[in-house]
Amino acid sequence: MSAAQSFSGGCQCGAVRYRISGALSYPHICHCRMCQKASGNYFMALAGADHAAFSLTRGAPGWFHSSEHVRRGFCAACGTPLFFETVDTDRIAVTLGSLDDPSAFPPVSQDGVEGRVPFFHLLSGLREMPTDRSDLQGAMMRLPPACASTPITIPKHGRPKMTRTPDNKVEKATQGWRPTT
Ligand SMILES: [Zn+2]
Ligand SMILES: [Zn+2]
Repeated sequence: MSAAQSFSGGCQCGAVRYRISGALSYPHICHCRMCQKASGNYFMALAGADHAAFSLTRGAPGWFHSSEHVRRGFCAACGTPLFFETVDTDRIAVTLGSLDDPSAFPPVSQDGVEGRVPFFHLLSGLREMPTDRSDLQGAMMRLPPACASTPITIPKHGRPKMTRTPDNKVEKATQGWRPTT
């Protein structure tokens, strides 16, 4: 990754596009409640750059002050979270999922772990399916019974309780999980 490279990204609808000259620094995921709310997700993936290396190449984001010192930029047309900026600094962070190549900067840290959802470590063990437009209305009707039910509950301490199914699919899907203590 040389300093001569640049990285571009943008929102889902294409109204806002940006470019970063050189590498982004400190790619990380943040589990804090503010990032959960801002992304509508379990965590937000971010990496930073100097303002001097950052440029908008199309459109302009909307901004929301999530606290006195932080504002978050998003596409006002489609809602994609794009930027995180600590005001009165010369730094800006971009959401790694909005990069044209979201795999360009693998995260090196988990921040805000006090907000991390308790089943985070189970996510990589979930059953795997290609995109099948399961977000469309009525898609839940097509799921097999084992997936339509709630397979596990997370106790306050110790190992999650598994609900056994006739074909034991749920048990297999959570093999990768290990209790921390
Ligand atoms: Zn957009
Ligand atoms: Zn955060």
